[in-house]
Amino acid sequence: MPELPEMETYKILLNQKIAGQVISDIQINREKSINLNSELFKRTVLLQKVTNVYRRGKHLLFHLQNGQVMLLHLMLGGWMFYGLESEKPKRTIQVQISFGEYHLYFIGLRLGYLHLYSQQEAEEKLSNLGPEPLSSDFSLNHFLGIISQKHGRLKTTLLDQEIIAGIGNCYSAEICFHAGILPTKDIDQIVESKRSQLYHSMRTVLQDGIKHGGYMENPLFKGDTLTGGFNERCNVYDREGKNCNRCGAIIINEMVSSRKTFYCPNCQK
Ligand SMILES: [Zn+2]
Repeated sequence: MPELPEMETYKILLNQKIAGQVISDIQINREKSINLNSELFKRTVLLQKVTNVYRRGKHLLFHLQNGQVMLLHLMLGGWMFYGLESEKPKRTIQVQISFGEYHLYFIGLRLGYLHLYSQQEAEEKLSNLGPEPLSSDFSLNHFLGIISQKHGRLKTTLLDQEIIAGIGNCYSAEICFHAGILPTKDIDQIVESKRSQLYHSMRTVLQDGIKHGGYMENPLFKGDTLTGGFNERCNVYDREGKNCNRCGAIIINEMVSSRKTFYCPNCQK
């Protein structure tokens, strides 16, 4: 599932491609991916300029000239491709938004969605989300304050979108590795210095993820060299049975709350 760095990469690249562009056509092949009658959806977005693309947590918000917002969540398996008809991936397309001869294809949008809202409705939909971990006003003290009220396993807290927005299975594993803490550890048992380390690891790993274009396998457009660069930089995620890059021990994959949880049993305490 795409997480904060993947969605931020999409945001950056999509702003370069479609900000200021007018939607010339829209094709909805899967009604369940949207929230309105498809005719109404089409009528509302057609001939509208995309003014800007924003991100909040794992969501993208396509702001339109008429004040409406298309709210995207890719969930599990969703991805996007932008390009000419001739470059279209050989996959089922759920929604296609056209900008002249270029198209933005939404693929794998089975659990994911593209919903149309007013700005106020969109804000309400996202109002339960916790703070943005990379925001300049999300300070160490703010983080320590939040963590001090939480109990249970560290991983569960990191994944909770209402506590901190944007972290999923991959980055929670990488953050815990970076901090040298077991994801299965109880928060109550993490000492103060390690909690501070966790905050710095969270910011470092997420920033590194963005810098290297996240871990999505598919490029956003032909010639896209940014997307997916973080894949080979993962230290524990999806590396079960491989050697730890830090200490050489074998990386473990343990199911925690039915989620795969990767860590090094030697250098994470
Ligand atoms: Zn290790």
